[in-house]
Amino acid sequence: MDSAGMQSELRYRQIHLDFHTSEHITDVGARFDAEQFAATLKRGNVNSVTVFARCHHGWAYYPSRVCKPHPHLKRNLTGEMVAACRKHDINVPVYITVQWDERMARENPGWRVMHAEQEAGSSLYQLKAQWHTLCLSNQPYIEYLKAQTKEVIELFAPDGLFFDILLLWRCVCPNCVARMQAAGRNPDSEKDQLANHRELVLKFYEEMGECVKSVAPEMRIFFNSGHVYKGERERWKYFSHLELESLPTGGWGYDHFPVSARYANTLGMEYVGMTGKFHTSWGEFGGYKRPVALEYECALMVALGARCSIGDQMHPCGELEEATYETIAPAYARVAALEPYVKGARPVSEVAILSSEAVHRGRGAHEEQDCGAARMLLEMQVMFDVIDAEEEFGKYKVVILPDDITLEGALAEKVNAYVSGGGKLVMSGASGMRPDMGGFAVPLRAEVKGMSEWQPDYVEAAVGLDEDLVEAPFVMNHRAHKVKARGAEVLAWVHAPYFNRSWEHFCSHQHAPYRRERCSEYDALIQDGGIVYFSHPIFMAYYDKGQPLYKYLVRGVLRRLLPQWNVEVNLPSSGRISLMRQAAERRTLLHVLYAQPQLRGERGFGWMAPQKMEIIEDTVPLYGVPCAVKMEEKPKRVYAAASGKERAWVYTDGYVRFELERVKIHELTVIEEA
Ligand SMILES: [Zn+2]
Repeated sequence: MDSAGMQSELRYRQIHLDFHTSEHITDVGARFDAEQFAATLKRGNVNSVTVFARCHHGWAYYPSRVCKPHPHLKRNLTGEMVAACRKHDINVPVYITVQWDERMARENPGWRVMHAEQEAGSSLYQLKAQWHTLCLSNQPYIEYLKAQTKEVIELFAPDGLFFDILLLWRCVCPNCVARMQAAGRNPDSEKDQLANHRELVLKFYEEMGECVKSVAPEMRIFFNSGHVYKGERERWKYFSHLELESLPTGGWGYDHFPVSARYANTLGMEYVGMTGKFHTSWGEFGGYKRPVALEYECALMVALGARCSIGDQMHPCGELEEATYETIAPAYARVAALEPYVKGARPVSEVAILSSEAVHRGRGAHEEQDCGAARMLLEMQVMFDVIDAEEEFGKYKVVILPDDITLEGALAEKVNAYVSGGGKLVMSGASGMRPDMGGFAVPLRAEVKGMSEWQPDYVEAAVGLDEDLVEAPFVMNHRAHKVKARGAEVLAWVHAPYFNRSWEHFCSHQHAPYRRERCSEYDALIQDGGIVYFSHPIFMAYYDKGQPLYKYLVRGVLRRLLPQWNVEVNLPSSGRISLMRQAAERRTLLHVLYAQPQLRGERGFGWMAPQKMEIIEDTVPLYGVPCAVKMEEKPKRVYAAASGKERAWVYTDGYVRFELERVKIHELTVIEEA
C-alpha cells in the first residue's frame, strides 16, 4: 500500500512463494541474500511476489510480538524480503495461514476439526504426516489471527493479504455440535455439517475483513478456499480480487482453469490465475515443469482476462532456486509483451452455460455437467461464459442448461422471459423440466413419460445435422428421459437395444445391438422454435466417455440456432481461442492457443486427485490457421501483437478474415476498430 492509501495495482507476473518449514530443519533463512532474492525474481520477469508471515507449521518468519518465530531462524526474513522487493519495484503481498497451523494444533488439540467417523484424509489421525486442521469455531484462535494480521500490516505495509486454507469440513467438535443444535440443525447430517462450517468460513471472511478495514481500508484481501464457488456471490464481499487456484498437473487438469475463469469473468472482479512451477503440485521440492508448459498456461490465463501467479516453494536456507526462475522467465517475458493488449479486456461471448454447480449451490465444486459442456465448447472453439442464475441472460444468444437444471419459481420465470425475448435455449436430461419431472416448465411441445427402461440405447441423427456425425445409430451409455415430440421437430431418433444386458440374456462382449426400427416411445433430440432438448444427459455423457459424436450433435444444434458465430477459427480440437475487447482502446483481440496435454503418469497429486497426470512436454507449431471475426464495420488495422507486423486481411460479409502464418503456443491478433 502506498502512502496515498490507494489500493495496490494487481500485477500480471506474480509468484506465490510457499515456505512451510518444519522445526526439525536448522539454519532456516541462513543463506538469504536480499540482492540474490530480487535479482532472481527479476531474471524470471516477476513483478510481484507473495511472501510468508506464518506457515502451515505455525511459525512466523520475523520477530513477532504475537506468534512464535521459527526456532531456527535468526533474522527478520519476512521484513528483509519485503525491503528487497520495495527497492526493486516488486509488489509484495503477505501470506498468512488460517486453518492449518501445526504448532497450534499440537498445543491446542481441542481446537482441531473433529469428524463424526473416520474418513480418508481425516485430520484426526494423530500419527499421520499431514496437517491437522483447526476449526474456525474457536474464537481465541481467530483473535490470534487478527492480532498477527494487524502486526503484519503495521510492520510491512504489504500490497495485500493472502489468507490460506478456508475449506469446508464436516466438523462435529463440541463447539460445532452446540452451534448446530442452537441453529436447529442436525449434527448427524452431512448437509448440516457442511452448512455449519460454511457459515463459520463466511463469518471469518467478515470478521477478518472488518479487522483489516479498521486499520488499512484499501488493503487487498484474498481468502483462499481452493475454488471459486459458483452461484455464491455473497462470498466475495470482503475480497478485493479473486485468485483461481488451478494447477493443471496438480489434480485440476488443463480444462479446470478455463471453466473457472469464464465464470470469474462474469463477476466483474479482477482475478489471478494460479498455477505452479512444480511437476505435480505444492510442496514438491525438486519438481520442475517444462518452460513451454508454463508459457502455455500463462498465455491462456491472460487470454481469458486473468493475471498470472506461479507457485514456488523456497528452500529452507532462504535461497531462491535460479533454475526455477529460468523455467519461468520465457512465460513471463511473453506475458509482459502482451500486457498492453490484455489490460481491461473483456470477453465477447455469445453462448453461456448456466452452471449446474451454481444452481445446485453447495452440492459440489466439480460438476461434471458443467465440465462436459465447457469441454465441448472449448474444443469447438466457441466463445462462452459460465454463468449463475443472477447473471443477465439477455446478453447471450444461446444459453445452455446442462443435464440437471429443473426449473421452478423465479428461475423458471427468468428462463421463460429470456425465451420469449428471442433467446435460444439448449437443454438436456432433466433440464427445463419441472422439479417433479412430469413435464416441461418452458414452451416445448413434447410429452414426458419418465425414464427410459433402456441402458444403453442408440441415437440416429438427422442426415446433415453435422458433417462429422455418422449416418448410423451410435451408442449412448447414459439413461435418457422418455420425451416424445408432440409438434416439435425431431433432429435425432432413438433405437432401443434388443434387451438390456443381464444374466437372463446378453449378447457379445458389451451391450445388445440396436433394433433396426426407430423407437416409437421417445426421441433423442427435438427442437421447438428456439428451444432444443436432448433426452440424454449429453454433457455428463461427454465428460464421462469423451465420444466426439456427442459433441458433433451439440455443434450441429448450435449451428442451427446460431448460423453465424462471432468467431470462426479452423483449429484442431485441442486448440483454444479467446475473443476479447478493450472498449477504451477500441480494439478487438483474438487469442489462438495450441498445445496438446497428454496423459502420462498414473497417479497425480492433490485434493482433487486421484486424477491422472496431464503433461505438456513440448509443443508443435500450427501453420496457416484461417480466422474470421465478425465486425460491425471494416476495421482500421489488423496486426500481430507480438511483432506489430500487419496481417494480410479482407473484410467480407461482415467478417474480417485473415490467416495466422504460424501459431507457436499462442498468437494474439489485434483488430483496431474503425
Ligand atoms: Zn468445529
